[in-house]
Amino acid sequence: MKSTTQEKAVIPRRKRTARSGEWGVEQVIGQIQMIQSLMKDAMVEDEHYGTIPGCGTKKVLLKPGAEKLGLMFRLAPKYTIDRYELQDGHREYEVTCTLTHIPTGQIWGEGVGTCSTMESKFRYRKAERVCPECGVAAIIKGKAEYGGGWLCYKKKGGCGAKWNDGAEEIEGQEVGKIENENLADQYNTVKKIAKKRALVDATLTATAASDIFTQDIADPEIENVTIISETTIKPVEPKKEKKIEEPKAEKKKTNAVVEGYLKMISECDTLNTLSKFKEENKAEIKKLSKADKDKIGRAYNKKDLEISNKLVKQ
Ligand SMILES: [Zn+2]
Repeated sequence: MKSTTQEKAVIPRRKRTARSGEWGVEQVIGQIQMIQSLMKDAMVEDEHYGTIPGCGTKKVLLKPGAEKLGLMFRLAPKYTIDRYELQDGHREYEVTCTLTHIPTGQIWGEGVGTCSTMESKFRYRKAERVCPECGVAAIIKGKAEYGGGWLCYKKKGGCGAKWNDGAEEIEGQEVGKIENENLADQYNTVKKIAKKRALVDATLTATAASDIFTQDIADPEIENVTIISETTIKPVEPKKEKKIEEPKAEKKKTNAVVEGYLKMISECDTLNTLSKFKEENKAEIKKLSKADKDKIGRAYNKKDLEISNKLVKQ
């Protein structure tokens, strides 16, 4: 079961359009030209598509690019999700994405994507030494000239605690590549990735874009998703911290910052200015709370679609 379904993720089904009637050569060329002009005008490299080093000139279609193609061709995705429970709490999702042409109601294509927690990036995590005092993975080897030992390094977010060489609570910790014990945390990510793979596969099929794009077999996008955080081992009482309310003045300040970003986004009128905004503010935005990041992300995506829509209509 596992091997067959995994194979599907690597070898996506292609050229299985369910469109009524065969396409003429001219129609196919017309469609390819349309996609190429969209690539030139409305798609940004590394955001909507990418390239794999050593894999020729073929571009890799990324999820945002697939969404744009869907927008341009007026395709609505519908997902069917199958879940397989594997041994030891592992889970696999097989997602089928059907793309329906909104104006005609015709089904243009179908794609399949699978993802499972058995994939090594979910199955294993890189274990680091964690401070028994503060719970942060900031333990470094103390310099010999300062007497060696171990240090919870403040510059890495640690608390400054120190231990002698041979300290069991530090040296007894398992480090390196270990089995991930928090599989349930990955279920949602794995499901999302399966959906993404299905959407990209379906889009390539439905729009005959596989002449231009390939699927991201190596999945470079995933590298950007923080799936396995470096501080997976939580401190003993992490919940108490969350309840400490942000001082009001601090909250106000954060709100103003978020509003500022939203205003900047609303003022962008080209995809270039929009991606420049992202480039310039990425690091600062990363520091905000998840709710704030989501808020900015939503505004960004909305603006991106708005501009792309205009470009397509021109
Ligand atoms: Zn510490």
